[in-house]
Amino acid sequence: MTKKQFVCTACGFIGQPITITKGSLALEIVLWLAFLVPGIIYSIWRLTTRYKACPVCKKEAMIPADTPIGQKLVSEVIQNESSSK
Ligand SMILES: [Zn+2]
Repeated sequence: MTKKQFVCTACGFIGQPITITKGSLALEIVLWLAFLVPGIIYSIWRLTTRYKACPVCKKEAMIPADTPIGQKLVSEVIQNESSSK
């Protein structure tokens, strides 16, 4: 099975997005050990703010390449690459 391709609408990168989690794991562990309730809240906050980002520009701008807009963008990126050479 081939992995689903994504395209970045900000920089034109084609490939796999990376998952970015805000906050830090160390602080999460400290909160869990010291105060249970803030630890739970902090864990939920980190899970809800997790997002897929472009590995090149770190922007939350990646869309699936198999959508109409994604396909248009992919063909534009390929055209730009071939014309710049
Ligand atoms: Zn990008």
